[in-house]
Amino acid sequence: MTNSSPVYKLLNGQTLTKSQFLKYVEEKVFKTMRKYKLFSLDDKIVVAVSGGKDSLTVLYLTHKYLKRKGLEKNLLALAIDEGIENYRSKTLDDLEKFCKKYKIQLEIRSYKQKYGKTLDESIKKIKTSKENISACNICGTFRRQSLNTAARELGATKLVTGHNLDDEAQSILLNIFKNNFSILPRLGPANGVVTDSKFIPRVKPLYHITEKEVRLYTLLKGFDLHYSVCPYAKDSFRTNIAVMLNELEDKHKGVKHSIVQFYLQAQGALKEQFLEEKGNQVTHCSVCGEPSQRPVCNTCMMKSKIQE
Ligand code: SF4
Repeated sequence: MTNSSPVYKLLNGQTLTKSQFLKYVEEKVFKTMRKYKLFSLDDKIVVAVSGGKDSLTVLYLTHKYLKRKGLEKNLLALAIDEGIENYRSKTLDDLEKFCKKYKIQLEIRSYKQKYGKTLDESIKKIKTSKENISACNICGTFRRQSLNTAARELGATKLVTGHNLDDEAQSILLNIFKNNFSILPRLGPANGVVTDSKFIPRVKPLYHITEKEVRLYTLLKGFDLHYSVCPYAKDSFRTNIAVMLNELEDKHKGVKHSIVQFYLQAQGALKEQFLEEKGNQVTHCSVCGEPSQRPVCNTCMMKSKIQE
Protein backbone atom coordinates (compact mmCIF):
# COMPACT_ATOMS: atom_id res chain seq x y z
CA MET A 1 0.00 0.00 0.00
CA THR A 2 1.42 3.42 -0.97
CA ASN A 3 0.64 6.73 0.74
CA SER A 4 -1.76 7.58 -2.09
CA SER A 5 -3.69 4.29 -1.93
CA PRO A 6 -7.32 4.71 -0.90
CA VAL A 7 -8.11 3.23 2.54
CA TYR A 8 -11.72 4.34 2.97
CA LYS A 9 -14.79 5.20 0.93
CA LEU A 10 -17.25 7.81 2.27
CA LEU A 11 -21.04 7.47 1.81
CA ASN A 12 -20.89 9.98 -1.07
CA GLY A 13 -18.42 7.70 -2.93
CA GLN A 14 -15.32 9.86 -2.28
CA THR A 15 -12.22 7.81 -1.39
CA LEU A 16 -9.63 8.84 1.20
CA THR A 17 -5.96 8.01 1.61
CA LYS A 18 -4.52 7.21 5.04
CA SER A 19 -3.58 10.81 5.88
CA GLN A 20 -6.89 12.14 4.52
CA PHE A 21 -8.83 9.58 6.55
CA LEU A 22 -7.01 10.42 9.82
CA LYS A 23 -7.66 14.12 9.20
CA TYR A 24 -11.32 13.43 8.32
CA VAL A 25 -11.91 11.60 11.65
CA GLU A 26 -10.06 14.16 13.75
CA GLU A 27 -11.80 17.14 12.15
CA LYS A 28 -15.21 15.51 12.48
CA VAL A 29 -14.64 14.80 16.19
CA PHE A 30 -13.31 18.32 16.89
CA LYS A 31 -16.28 19.78 14.96
CA THR A 32 -18.67 17.74 17.16
CA MET A 33 -16.93 19.14 20.26
CA ARG A 34 -17.34 22.71 18.99
CA LYS A 35 -20.83 22.41 17.45
CA TYR A 36 -22.46 20.96 20.57
CA LYS A 37 -20.21 22.97 22.97
CA LEU A 38 -19.18 19.75 24.73
CA PHE A 39 -16.46 21.49 26.79
CA SER A 40 -15.84 24.88 28.32
CA LEU A 41 -12.45 26.29 29.30
CA ASP A 42 -12.93 25.66 33.01
CA ASP A 43 -14.24 22.10 32.71
CA LYS A 44 -12.56 19.32 34.68
CA ILE A 45 -12.86 16.45 32.24
CA VAL A 46 -12.99 12.78 33.16
CA VAL A 47 -12.87 10.33 30.24
CA ALA A 48 -14.55 6.97 30.88
CA VAL A 49 -12.23 4.33 29.45
CA SER A 50 -12.12 0.56 29.17
CA GLY A 51 -9.03 0.10 27.00
CA GLY A 52 -11.15 -0.83 23.96
CA LYS A 53 -10.92 0.91 20.58
CA ASP A 54 -13.67 3.48 21.22
CA SER A 55 -12.42 4.58 24.60
CA LEU A 56 -8.77 4.83 23.52
CA THR A 57 -9.81 6.87 20.47
CA VAL A 58 -11.94 9.28 22.48
CA LEU A 59 -9.23 9.59 25.13
CA TYR A 60 -6.54 10.28 22.51
CA LEU A 61 -8.64 12.84 20.62
CA THR A 62 -9.94 14.63 23.72
CA HIS A 63 -6.36 14.85 25.00
CA LYS A 64 -5.20 16.17 21.62
CA TYR A 65 -8.00 18.76 21.50
CA LEU A 66 -7.24 20.02 25.02
CA LYS A 67 -3.48 19.99 24.43
CA ARG A 68 -3.89 22.41 21.53
CA LYS A 69 -5.51 24.79 24.02
CA GLY A 70 -2.95 24.08 26.76
CA LEU A 71 -5.70 22.50 28.88
CA GLU A 72 -4.60 18.84 28.93
CA LYS A 73 -3.97 19.02 32.69
CA ASN A 74 -7.76 19.32 33.10
CA LEU A 75 -8.20 15.74 31.90
CA LEU A 76 -7.96 12.36 33.56
CA ALA A 77 -9.00 8.84 32.59
CA LEU A 78 -11.35 6.70 34.66
CA ALA A 79 -11.75 2.94 34.23
CA ILE A 80 -14.24 0.66 35.90
CA ASP A 81 -13.10 -2.94 36.35
CA GLU A 82 -16.30 -5.00 36.19
CA GLY A 83 -14.50 -8.21 37.10
CA ILE A 84 -14.87 -10.25 33.89
CA GLU A 85 -12.31 -13.04 33.85
CA ASN A 86 -9.96 -13.34 30.85
CA TYR A 87 -11.32 -10.13 29.33
CA ARG A 88 -11.12 -6.92 31.32
CA SER A 89 -7.58 -7.47 32.64
CA LYS A 90 -6.28 -7.51 29.02
CA THR A 91 -7.97 -4.25 28.07
CA LEU A 92 -6.89 -2.62 31.35
CA ASP A 93 -3.27 -3.59 30.55
CA ASP A 94 -3.62 -1.89 27.14
CA LEU A 95 -5.10 1.14 28.86
CA GLU A 96 -2.32 1.44 31.44
CA LYS A 97 0.34 1.35 28.68
CA PHE A 98 -1.59 3.92 26.65
CA CYS A 99 -1.98 6.35 29.57
CA LYS A 100 1.69 5.99 30.45
CA LYS A 101 2.70 6.76 26.85
CA TYR A 102 0.58 9.92 26.67
CA LYS A 103 1.20 10.92 30.32
CA ILE A 104 -2.50 10.81 31.24
CA GLN A 105 -3.48 10.25 34.86
CA LEU A 106 -5.52 7.03 35.23
CA GLU A 107 -7.91 6.11 38.03
CA ILE A 108 -9.29 2.55 38.28
CA ARG A 109 -12.35 1.62 40.37
CA SER A 110 -14.12 -1.74 40.54
CA TYR A 111 -17.55 -3.33 41.07
CA LYS A 112 -15.91 -5.54 43.71
CA GLN A 113 -14.93 -2.47 45.78
CA LYS A 114 -18.25 -0.71 45.31
CA TYR A 115 -20.82 -3.53 45.31
CA GLY A 116 -18.91 -6.33 47.06
CA LYS A 117 -18.93 -8.66 44.03
CA THR A 118 -17.32 -8.88 40.62
CA LEU A 119 -19.68 -9.09 37.62
CA ASP A 120 -18.83 -12.81 37.27
CA GLU A 121 -19.78 -13.41 40.94
CA SER A 122 -22.99 -11.37 40.59
CA ILE A 123 -24.05 -13.45 37.58
CA LYS A 124 -23.46 -16.71 39.45
CA LYS A 125 -25.66 -15.41 42.26
CA ILE A 126 -28.43 -14.34 39.84
CA LYS A 127 -28.33 -17.76 38.15
CA THR A 128 -28.74 -19.63 41.45
CA SER A 129 -31.67 -17.43 42.43
CA LYS A 130 -33.17 -18.05 38.93
CA GLU A 131 -33.89 -14.33 38.36
CA ASN A 132 -34.36 -13.39 34.70
CA ILE A 133 -31.67 -10.66 34.56
CA SER A 134 -28.94 -10.54 31.93
CA ALA A 135 -25.26 -9.82 32.53
CA CYS A 136 -25.53 -6.58 30.54
CA ASN A 137 -28.49 -5.50 32.60
CA ILE A 138 -26.48 -5.80 35.83
CA CYS A 139 -23.33 -4.41 34.25
CA GLY A 140 -24.99 -1.40 32.59
CA THR A 141 -26.83 -0.45 35.78
CA PHE A 142 -23.68 -0.68 37.92
CA ARG A 143 -21.52 1.07 35.34
CA ARG A 144 -23.82 4.10 35.03
CA GLN A 145 -23.74 4.68 38.76
CA SER A 146 -20.04 3.79 39.27
CA LEU A 147 -18.96 6.23 36.58
CA ASN A 148 -21.14 9.03 37.89
CA THR A 149 -20.10 8.69 41.54
CA ALA A 150 -16.39 8.19 40.74
CA ALA A 151 -16.37 11.17 38.32
CA ARG A 152 -18.05 13.31 40.96
CA GLU A 153 -15.53 12.23 43.62
CA LEU A 154 -12.75 13.17 41.19
CA GLY A 155 -14.21 16.68 40.81
CA ALA A 156 -15.39 16.24 37.21
CA THR A 157 -17.69 18.74 35.55
CA LYS A 158 -17.91 16.64 32.35
CA LEU A 159 -17.82 12.89 31.82
CA VAL A 160 -16.67 11.89 28.32
CA THR A 161 -17.74 8.53 26.89
CA GLY A 162 -16.62 6.70 23.75
CA HIS A 163 -20.10 6.11 22.30
CA ASN A 164 -19.95 6.19 18.51
CA LEU A 165 -22.64 6.57 15.84
CA ASP A 166 -23.40 2.83 15.80
CA ASP A 167 -23.91 2.84 19.59
CA GLU A 168 -26.25 5.80 19.33
CA ALA A 169 -28.31 4.28 16.48
CA GLN A 170 -28.59 1.06 18.57
CA SER A 171 -29.64 3.02 21.70
CA ILE A 172 -32.33 4.91 19.77
CA LEU A 173 -33.84 1.68 18.39
CA LEU A 174 -33.39 -0.21 21.66
CA ASN A 175 -35.34 2.39 23.61
CA ILE A 176 -38.07 2.48 20.94
CA PHE A 177 -38.31 -1.34 20.92
CA LYS A 178 -38.57 -1.33 24.73
CA ASN A 179 -40.97 1.63 24.79
CA ASN A 180 -38.60 3.53 27.11
CA PHE A 181 -39.97 6.96 26.26
CA SER A 182 -38.39 8.68 29.25
CA ILE A 183 -34.85 7.57 28.24
CA LEU A 184 -35.10 8.59 24.59
CA PRO A 185 -34.88 12.41 25.08
CA ARG A 186 -31.72 11.94 27.20
CA LEU A 187 -29.65 10.55 24.32
CA GLY A 188 -27.70 12.80 21.93
CA PRO A 189 -24.12 14.17 21.92
CA ALA A 190 -24.64 15.81 25.33
CA ASN A 191 -26.80 13.64 27.59
CA GLY A 192 -29.56 14.74 29.90
CA VAL A 193 -32.74 16.80 29.98
CA VAL A 194 -32.75 18.04 33.57
CA THR A 195 -29.74 19.01 35.69
CA ASP A 196 -28.81 17.94 39.20
CA SER A 197 -25.70 18.73 41.24
CA LYS A 198 -25.16 14.99 41.82
CA PHE A 199 -25.27 14.12 38.15
CA ILE A 200 -22.15 14.77 36.02
CA PRO A 201 -23.18 15.70 32.44
CA ARG A 202 -22.02 13.16 29.85
CA VAL A 203 -20.70 14.06 26.41
CA LYS A 204 -19.94 11.93 23.33
CA PRO A 205 -17.28 13.39 20.99
CA LEU A 206 -17.41 10.29 18.68
CA TYR A 207 -21.14 10.85 18.11
CA HIS A 208 -20.84 11.21 14.31
CA ILE A 209 -18.10 8.59 13.78
CA THR A 210 -19.13 5.04 12.86
CA GLU A 211 -17.73 1.95 14.56
CA LYS A 212 -16.01 0.97 11.30
CA GLU A 213 -14.30 4.38 11.19
CA VAL A 214 -13.15 4.11 14.82
CA ARG A 215 -11.69 0.65 14.14
CA LEU A 216 -9.83 1.83 11.04
CA TYR A 217 -8.59 4.93 12.89
CA THR A 218 -7.06 2.82 15.68
CA LEU A 219 -5.46 0.45 13.16
CA LEU A 220 -3.96 3.27 11.08
CA LYS A 221 -2.74 5.09 14.20
CA GLY A 222 -1.15 1.82 15.36
CA PHE A 223 -2.76 1.89 18.81
CA ASP A 224 -1.61 -1.13 20.78
CA LEU A 225 -4.83 -2.87 21.84
CA HIS A 226 -6.74 -6.16 21.89
CA TYR A 227 -9.82 -6.14 19.65
CA SER A 228 -11.58 -8.54 22.01
CA VAL A 229 -15.31 -8.78 22.68
CA CYS A 230 -16.84 -9.17 26.13
CA PRO A 231 -17.90 -12.83 26.65
CA TYR A 232 -21.35 -11.70 27.82
CA ALA A 233 -22.05 -9.51 24.76
CA LYS A 234 -23.62 -12.33 22.74
CA ASP A 235 -26.57 -12.57 25.17
CA SER A 236 -27.62 -8.96 24.91
CA PHE A 237 -30.59 -7.31 23.19
CA ARG A 238 -28.20 -4.56 22.06
CA THR A 239 -26.05 -7.12 20.20
CA ASN A 240 -29.14 -8.39 18.34
CA ILE A 241 -29.92 -4.83 17.29
CA ALA A 242 -26.29 -4.25 16.26
CA VAL A 243 -26.35 -7.36 14.03
CA MET A 244 -29.67 -6.29 12.48
CA LEU A 245 -28.36 -2.77 11.82
CA ASN A 246 -25.14 -4.07 10.24
CA GLU A 247 -27.16 -6.28 7.88
CA LEU A 248 -29.38 -3.35 6.95
CA GLU A 249 -26.38 -1.05 6.46
CA ASP A 250 -24.82 -3.58 4.04
CA LYS A 251 -27.94 -3.47 1.88
CA HIS A 252 -28.94 0.18 2.38
CA LYS A 253 -25.88 2.38 2.92
CA GLY A 254 -26.44 5.23 5.35
CA VAL A 255 -29.30 3.81 7.48
CA LYS A 256 -27.34 4.31 10.72
CA HIS A 257 -26.66 7.97 9.85
CA SER A 258 -30.35 8.41 8.97
CA ILE A 259 -31.53 7.02 12.33
CA VAL A 260 -29.23 9.41 14.21
CA GLN A 261 -30.14 12.42 12.03
CA PHE A 262 -33.84 11.65 12.42
CA TYR A 263 -33.39 11.45 16.19
CA LEU A 264 -31.51 14.78 16.36
CA GLN A 265 -34.37 16.49 14.52
CA ALA A 266 -36.95 14.97 16.89
CA GLN A 267 -34.96 15.44 20.11
CA GLY A 268 -36.20 18.99 20.88
CA ALA A 269 -39.86 17.88 20.70
CA LEU A 270 -39.09 14.75 22.76
CA LYS A 271 -37.45 16.88 25.47
CA GLU A 272 -40.41 19.27 25.58
CA GLN A 273 -42.87 16.41 25.94
CA PHE A 274 -40.70 14.82 28.64
CA LEU A 275 -40.61 18.07 30.65
CA GLU A 276 -44.37 18.55 30.22
CA GLU A 277 -45.09 15.06 31.51
CA LYS A 278 -42.40 14.63 34.17
CA GLY A 279 -41.35 18.21 35.08
CA ASN A 280 -37.76 19.29 35.66
CA GLN A 281 -37.40 18.06 39.24
CA VAL A 282 -34.89 15.28 39.85
CA THR A 283 -35.82 12.82 42.57
CA HIS A 284 -33.25 10.95 44.65
CA CYS A 285 -33.12 7.32 45.73
CA SER A 286 -34.37 6.87 49.29
CA VAL A 287 -31.63 4.26 49.94
CA CYS A 288 -28.42 5.70 48.42
CA GLY A 289 -29.42 9.32 47.71
CA GLU A 290 -28.29 9.20 44.07
CA PRO A 291 -30.43 10.77 41.28
CA SER A 292 -33.22 8.37 40.36
CA GLN A 293 -36.55 8.30 38.55
CA ARG A 294 -38.01 5.93 41.12
CA PRO A 295 -38.21 6.01 44.93
CA VAL A 296 -35.51 3.28 45.02
CA CYS A 297 -32.96 3.43 42.17
CA ASN A 298 -32.20 0.56 39.77
CA THR A 299 -28.73 0.12 41.26
CA CYS A 300 -30.04 -0.41 44.81
CA MET A 301 -32.70 -2.84 43.48
CA MET A 302 -29.97 -4.73 41.60
CA LYS A 303 -27.65 -4.71 44.62
CA SER A 304 -30.32 -6.34 46.75
CA LYS A 305 -30.64 -9.15 44.18
CA ILE A 306 -26.92 -10.00 44.14
CA GLN A 307 -26.42 -9.97 47.90
CA GLU A 308 -26.58 -13.19 49.93
S1 SF4 B 1 -21.15 -6.53 26.92
FE1 SF4 B 1 -22.54 -6.40 28.68
S2 SF4 B 1 -21.44 -7.44 30.34
FE2 SF4 B 1 -19.93 -6.99 28.76
S3 SF4 B 1 -19.01 -5.04 29.36
FE3 SF4 B 1 -20.72 -4.57 27.95
S4 SF4 B 1 -22.50 -4.23 29.27
FE4 SF4 B 1 -20.91 -5.26 30.52
